Amino acid sequence: MSYKVTLLPGDGIGPEVAWAMRRCIDTTGVRIDWEEQAVGEPAIKQYGTPLPPQAIESVRRNKVAIKGPIVTPVGTGFRSVNVQLRQELDLFACVRPAKYFEGSQGKDKALDLVIFRENTEDLYMGVEFEKGSQNALHLIQEINNLQPKKIRQDSAISIKPISIYASERIIRFAFDYAVKHGRKKVTLVHKANIMKFTDGLFLQTGRAIAQEYAGRVAFEDVIVDNMTMQLVQRASNFDVLVLPNLYGDIISDLCAGLAGGLGVAPGANIGDTVALFEPVHGSAPKYTGKNKVNPTATILSGALMLDHLGETAAAQKLERAVREVIKEGRFVTYDLKPNRDDPSAVGTQEMADAICQKLKSF
Ligand code: NAD
Repeated sequence: MSYKVTLLPGDGIGPEVAWAMRRCIDTTGVRIDWEEQAVGEPAIKQYGTPLPPQAIESVRRNKVAIKGPIVTPVGTGFRSVNVQLRQELDLFACVRPAKYFEGSQGKDKALDLVIFRENTEDLYMGVEFEKGSQNALHLIQEINNLQPKKIRQDSAISIKPISIYASERIIRFAFDYAVKHGRKKVTLVHKANIMKFTDGLFLQTGRAIAQEYAGRVAFEDVIVDNMTMQLVQRASNFDVLVLPNLYGDIISDLCAGLAGGLGVAPGANIGDTVALFEPVHGSAPKYTGKNKVNPTATILSGALMLDHLGETAAAQKLERAVREVIKEGRFVTYDLKPNRDDPSAVGTQEMADAICQKLKSF
């Protein structure tokens, strides 16, 4: 049996890590029929848009896709392709496991948690009003008329919507995952002490859903600033985290650092019908074409994809191969060395070669 999967190599370091991932997945023996589609800078050159309709159609049709990172140009007319993909395909759950890598520069050996970040709303919804624009001035006037606090005229405005609908489905998704994978506790992260209506609603929704899982999965809530401190000091206290979009983005990078760095942090964006896998890191433009960066995050995103396809044994084998190569520390990229200038660090494709060799040896 073979699976049809859309491959979006992306730009920057994307094509290099995507190629490394593809070789490792093919070495597991699972047969994938890769349907490659340009997105990001190559797509701008070819089609005049970073997200051509045929790329989205391919993902919709195949229902499973894996992508490399894509540059989000700052201050241009183009919206983030990543945010656009998540919104257009309604990929409401961003799932990011963070488990310590022996042999890496990770900070917490006991770290083993899974992050569930709401992916469709909050400040990332992209409802923004530019300073001085007619709409911004109009909105400021309306808001100032509605309540006593005065927003300054020279303000830009971003809107933070949090709905019961979106909160319920991500929180339920996190609890269901905990039940299915034998995880013991869900921690909901928020700032409801300050944002009483938005984060307050997320918390209130979480408390109601937690009751349905009482006796099976424990529940607690932690304020986001306190959470950053607790994660640094004792991440082993946590099991499954569920967060609104912005906090989820920030806490994911923190946990990536604790586990071993951005180079080893995989991720998945899941919706009701489509799943899109991608590393947590971005396109690291300064390393483009240098065969330098760590392919692990994208390879492990591929392992998450195999698991999603039902190829659990192959997924586990691939993760084991990656972990063993990192633990041995011989064929690893610069970021996994204690000294980043270590001349014995290997390149992206050489690390992927070592992982393929390890897979063949099992
Ligand atoms: P980044 O993750 O691209 O890079 C930050 C630093 O992390 C790099 O300079 C590098 O030192 C390190 N790093 C990242 N990936 C690595 C890897 N695989 N191996 C070793 N080291 C690695 O973040 P940035 O510089 O803030 O963003 C660059 C671009 O990527 C921006 O345009 C941003 O918008 C975009 N971005 C895209 C995605 C995505 O496609 N999902 C995610 C985040 C950022």
